[in-house]
Amino acid sequence: MPDLDSKRALTIKVSGAVQGVGFRPFVYKLARKHRVKGHVKNSPDGVRIFAQGDDASIHDFLIHLRSDAPPLAHIQDIRTHPATVNDCKNFKIIHSNTSGEKTAIILPDMSTCDDCLSDITDPGNRRYQYPFTNCTNCGPRFSIIKGLPYDRPATSMSNFEMCDECQFEYNDPNNRRFHAQPNACPDCGPQLVFWDTKGKVTAKKQDALLMAMDAIMKGKIIALKGLGGFQLICDARNPDAVTTLRKRKNRPAKPFAIMVKNKSMAEEFCYISQNELELLTAPQKPIVILDSKCHPTLSKGIAPGNPTLGVMLPYTPLHHLLMMGLGIPIVATSGNLANEPICIDEHEALERLAHIADGFLVHDRPIVRPVDDSVVRWMAGKRMIIRRARGFAPFPFHQKNGKNAILATGAHLKNTVTVTRNTQFFISQHIGNLESDLSTQTLVHVAKDLSQIYDINIQAVTCDHHPDYQSTHFAKSFGLPTYPVQHHLAHVWSVIGEHQLELPILGVAWDGTGLGMDDNIWGSEFFQITEQGWKRFAHLKPFFLPGGDMATKEPRRSALGLLYTAMGEAAFEIPQIQQAFTPEELTILHSQFAADINMFETTSMGRLFDGVSFLTGFDPQSQFEGQAAMDLEFSIGDFLCRASYPITLHHQDDTHELDWQTMILEIVDEIKLGISRQEIAFKFHQALSNVVMVIARLSRVNRVCLSGGCFQNKSLLEMTIQQLHKEKFSAYWNQEVPINDGGISFGQATAFYHGGQTPCV
Ligand code: ZN
Ligand code: ZN
Ligand code: FE
Repeated sequence: MPDLDSKRALTIKVSGAVQGVGFRPFVYKLARKHRVKGHVKNSPDGVRIFAQGDDASIHDFLIHLRSDAPPLAHIQDIRTHPATVNDCKNFKIIHSNTSGEKTAIILPDMSTCDDCLSDITDPGNRRYQYPFTNCTNCGPRFSIIKGLPYDRPATSMSNFEMCDECQFEYNDPNNRRFHAQPNACPDCGPQLVFWDTKGKVTAKKQDALLMAMDAIMKGKIIALKGLGGFQLICDARNPDAVTTLRKRKNRPAKPFAIMVKNKSMAEEFCYISQNELELLTAPQKPIVILDSKCHPTLSKGIAPGNPTLGVMLPYTPLHHLLMMGLGIPIVATSGNLANEPICIDEHEALERLAHIADGFLVHDRPIVRPVDDSVVRWMAGKRMIIRRARGFAPFPFHQKNGKNAILATGAHLKNTVTVTRNTQFFISQHIGNLESDLSTQTLVHVAKDLSQIYDINIQAVTCDHHPDYQSTHFAKSFGLPTYPVQHHLAHVWSVIGEHQLELPILGVAWDGTGLGMDDNIWGSEFFQITEQGWKRFAHLKPFFLPGGDMATKEPRRSALGLLYTAMGEAAFEIPQIQQAFTPEELTILHSQFAADINMFETTSMGRLFDGVSFLTGFDPQSQFEGQAAMDLEFSIGDFLCRASYPITLHHQDDTHELDWQTMILEIVDEIKLGISRQEIAFKFHQALSNVVMVIARLSRVNRVCLSGGCFQNKSLLEMTIQQLHKEKFSAYWNQEVPINDGGISFGQATAFYHGGQTPCV
C-alpha cells in the first residue's frame, strides 16, 4: 500500500562536482529531516535522487538541496521530473549507476581538513599519527581516480580492503567518512616505508618517518612520495643541502619553494597581507608567491637575488606529521630533473631521482596521474593562478554554447592541454616544458587520460601555429582536422574565454617567443578582435636577434640586436657589449650582421626586457627563462617618479609600430651619466604601460585584454591596469587561467570554438 504521506514524487538530477564530497549523505540526512522517502545514488553524470513526499516536504527539500550543499560541492544544475508515486518506506543510499554519459566532475585533491588534523594529533584517536587519514571533506581525489563514477573500486585504493571499523564508518551516513572512498586507518590502509638509494627498506611506518626526519636534520635530500607526485625536500636553513640539491637537480638559480609548519612560521619569513593569507590557507594549499623578509635563517640559495619567496603549508597528513616533527622550514621542490615531468611511481623515482636523493620516503598508495603543486600570487587585487595543478585541476570552465569535443595541445613551454565537452572546458594539470621525451610522453598520456576519463570523443584538434613544436606534432598525429592558432592570439583568447567577453576587444599579448604569421618571432602583439576576425593592430618595431633562440638564454644577444638595429655598427663600440663577448665572438657576430647570417627578426617584448636588463647590469647569460626580465622588475623596488621614456608610433603596412629606438638610446646615455638602474627600470616599465594606453585610445575599443608571460611582472601588470583605468578603459587579464604559456591550450580551444583564429580580410 502506498505511503499515506506521499502525494508527489520526483526524479532529481544534480550535476556538477557532487561526487566524493559527501553529497549523498547530505541528501540522505536532508531527506530524513524533511520526511522525504526514496533514494539517492551516484551516476556517471552526477547524482540522481528519487524523492517522494508531500508538497511542503518536497519544496523544502529542493530549496535546501542547493543552499546547504557540502563545502567542496559545486552544483552546476538541478533538474526535476515528475515521477510515479510508489510504496517506498524510507530514504536510502543505493548502488551507483555505471552506464550513461560521464559528465560528473572530478574533484581536485584537497588538503587535510581540521577534523582529520585533530584525529592525527589526538593520542587517543585510532588514527593518531596515521599519514593517510582523510574524509569526505578532504584528501586525494584526482590523483587516485581511475574512472567514473567515483567509487572505491575505481580508485587506486581498490587493493586495500577496509577493516571492520573503517567499513562501519564508510557505511554510516552519519559519519564524516561515509563513502569516503580513500578511507583508511593504520590497520587496513597504506603504510610508509623508508628506502635507501638502492630501494632497500631500512624502516617502516612511524620509524620510516623518523628516519626521514633524521636524514633531513643531517642535511640530506629526501625524495618524498606526496599526493600527486614526488617532492625533493631538504632543510631550508642548511646552505650546503640547498646547494647540493641545486647541483644534483641541475637547477642553478630558479627559485625553490619552501614548506613551513603553519601560518605563523610563514609570517616569520614573509610579509603576508590578509588576501595572501587566504590564498595560503585555502583548501587547495598552493604555493603562494610572497614578499620575502630575506630572513637570515633561510639559506640564500633558495631564491637567489629574488625579493619574493614561494611558500606553502602542509597539505596531507604526511606533510603535517613531518613538519610537526621537524619544526623547521624545508625546501620542497618537484621530484624531477629540469624539463622532465614529476615522478609518481616509487620504482621509477628510484631510477630517475637516485642521483639526487639520499633516501626515499615512500608508501603503497599508487598515484594514478602526476599533479604538481600549484602556484598562485595576489596581483592587481585578484588571485592569479600561475601554475594550475593540485587543488585546481581538472575543474572545468564554462562557455556559453555547447559544441563538438575538441582537444587543444598547448604550447611548447609550461605545456597544458585542454579538452572540451559541450560547454565544459577542462584544462589539464601543468605538464611542463616539452624539452624531453619524457615530457612529450606525459603530454600524450595526459591528453588521452583526460578524454578517456570523461569519455570524450575528440572531433577536432587545435594547436600552436609553430609547425615544429612537439605539441603540434602530437596534434597532427590524430589524423583529425587540425586548426593551428597563432601563439599570441591564443594568449588573448584565453582572456576572452576566461571572462566570457563580448567582442570587439583589444588584446595585448606580450611575451618571449611565439611564431608569427609572417614566420618572424612575435611577442608584443596588439590584436583587434571583432566578430569579423582578428587584425594585428600594433607591435614593437622589429629588431635583429643574432642567433635566434640562443638569445632566450643570453640577454647580451638581445641587447646587441637592439643596439645594432638602432645605431648600426656603433653598437659594437658600446662598453657593455665589448665586455660581454670575447673578441672572437664579436668578430663572428660582426660578420653575421654584415652578411645577414643566423640573424632573425623579432618583435618580442621578452627580448626587449632582456636587452634593457643586460644593459643596466644583468649578467650576459641567464640561468632560466625570464630571469633577466624578473631581475629588471625587482630592481625597481619602491622607486617612484613621474618621468618615462618616449615610445613613438609609426603607421606602417596598416599596423602601428612602436618605436623603441629613442628609448634605448636614452637608456644608453643615462647609463653613461650614472643614472641608477632602479630609475631606468621604473621609467622603462612606465613607458610600456603608457604605450598600452595610447594604443587602446587609438583602437577605440573599450575592453582591453592583457596576457602573455611578460604580465607575470607584477609592476608591469599593475601599472598598465592603472593607466587603462585612469582613461576609463576596462582591463581584463588572466586570473584563473595561467597568464603564461600554461593558458595557451585554453586560449587555442576558445579561439577555435568561436572561429577566432580567422584573420580579417
Ligand atoms: Zn578530513
Ligand atoms: Zn581501517
Ligand atoms: Fe607565450
